[in-house]
Amino acid sequence: MSSFAQLYTQLGPVQQTKKRPQRYSIRDPVDINMAEYLISGGTTYVPEDGLTGSTLFGSFEGLTYNDFVMLPGFIDFTSDEVDLKSALTRKITLRTPFVSSPMDTVTESNMAIGLALCGGIGIIHHNCSVDAQADEVRKVKKYKQGFILDPICLSPDNTLRDLRDVKKQSGFSGIPITETGRLGAALKGIVTSRDVDFLGDESLSRPLHDLMTPRDDLVVAHYGCTLEEANEILQSNKKGKLPIVNERDELVALISRTDLKKSRNYPWASKDEKKQLIVGAAIGTREEDKPRLEALVNAGLDVVVLDSSQGNSVFQLDMIKYSKQRYPDLQVIGGNVVTAQQAKNLIDAGVDGLRVGMGVGSICITQEVLAVGRPQATAVYKVAEYARRFSVPVIADGGIQNTGHIVKALALGASTVMMGSLLAGTTEAPGQYYFQDGVRLKKYRGMGSLSAMEKSGSQQRYFSVGEKTKVAQGVSGSVVDKGSIFQFAPYLISGVQHSCQDVGALSLTALRSNMYSGELRFEKRTNSAILEGGVHGLHSYEKRLY
Ligand code: GDP
Ligand code: 5GP
Repeated sequence: MSSFAQLYTQLGPVQQTKKRPQRYSIRDPVDINMAEYLISGGTTYVPEDGLTGSTLFGSFEGLTYNDFVMLPGFIDFTSDEVDLKSALTRKITLRTPFVSSPMDTVTESNMAIGLALCGGIGIIHHNCSVDAQADEVRKVKKYKQGFILDPICLSPDNTLRDLRDVKKQSGFSGIPITETGRLGAALKGIVTSRDVDFLGDESLSRPLHDLMTPRDDLVVAHYGCTLEEANEILQSNKKGKLPIVNERDELVALISRTDLKKSRNYPWASKDEKKQLIVGAAIGTREEDKPRLEALVNAGLDVVVLDSSQGNSVFQLDMIKYSKQRYPDLQVIGGNVVTAQQAKNLIDAGVDGLRVGMGVGSICITQEVLAVGRPQATAVYKVAEYARRFSVPVIADGGIQNTGHIVKALALGASTVMMGSLLAGTTEAPGQYYFQDGVRLKKYRGMGSLSAMEKSGSQQRYFSVGEKTKVAQGVSGSVVDKGSIFQFAPYLISGVQHSCQDVGALSLTALRSNMYSGELRFEKRTNSAILEGGVHGLHSYEKRLY
């Protein structure tokens, strides 16, 4: 052994790399690396740098996503080659690791459809009646690209005033007119902007049967037609809207020319074996949730999320066993948990996936008011490290503020991430936009906020049912407009792919296994390092992300 190599051995563990030998110029200070480089003829030893996942989380300090960074690796592929396939549950694999949270300001059918088309999945909230929740599930399962399956309708007796109200609220210009004003009734006509644009306030009480284009003059298509056939009919007739009717001439759907122009392929869409989009829904863990589950399964549910803020309870264990026994094909996600001991009980009861996070959501005050929870990076690492031995995938739920947090969660062992605040500002989230101080906003509230708990479903999650004094575990607020999920999800996808490229991981599977093998290195950040890692030292700046 050369004396340099001996000295090196004394200095501590070394790691050999053949990928990129460091080059030294003759004027570099003579150090041990240079000397060794010169004698080894081009191959050098590089001291170990950074921390492995197990060292990072080996201390007794709880860490958040902001407390550490990943060190770069070696790139020999392009970012769009990075494969984002990841398991949601034992049996469901998604093409992108994105899950929307079961919150009443985040996920109803529109979000679930949008996210499923982009390769993720939406979990429909349960802060509503059983029928309303089952309807939302049904809408996702029945979704066919280009077809509006629940168009807003009016009746011939409604007035121009009613039409203007509907248009103001929904923004839609083409309103089909049916006998009862509902979908599923006989089609009587259609009112579009061209019929009413020039009418003044003196006409507000005129009934729509005076103003509509009547049924006899309408071009329609029949139930069962394909999108291509509908497209041809719209093009050859130069119409903006195409009502779809069944054999009894009842309205069953509507097609809009605008949508056909925008219609794209979604090769990554999350679909079942019948080629229908997949969807999840949340329920509580009480007796009355059993009929709810039945209604959801009948509507076509693919995965149920048992929604408790502290999932390690006898109620949840019973519900897991009940759901698995009654519906063996249904995937069951349990949670929330933040320790391996909690996870063990749920895994033993038979869960197919685990939701991890307690008191870390943007709207949460659990850690403040109940002093229980765990910093999220530590929670994800600890639970995933245990659950992987049983092949149970982990969802990192809450506290995701940007693409960097998403990748960190995935690098720590999570298979997917669940997002609330990040998605609540998109067009597909429930609720209307409004302006405040010139900024376009949407409401976003915690399911444990008093305003959400005043509605039925969410009290259970926070064990507040029937209690005289409720203890809020969340707040109600607002988030900024993020545009459509169809623009936002591609941004998230690209961000995650670029990050994986930087650390040299060609897939999310590689990212996780590099972490467990110790190849992926981390570094803790001091407070000043966190400041340095953000924008600093500028008088002003604009932060546009995509
Ligand atoms: P436009 O003149 O083609 O923009 O027609 P609309 O204003 O009627 O519709 C605009 C968009 O709203 C289209 O992308 C529709 O798919 C969508 N949309 C969603 N739900 C409805 C609905 O209930 N009625 C109508 N008319 N459009 C809907
Ligand atoms: P976000 O993505 O906004 O940071 O967090 C969303 C997550 O916060 C949800 O998926 C859910 O787990 C959790 N959550 C939702 N509402 C509440 C609440 O009112 N209180 C608490 N403690 N957690 C909530």
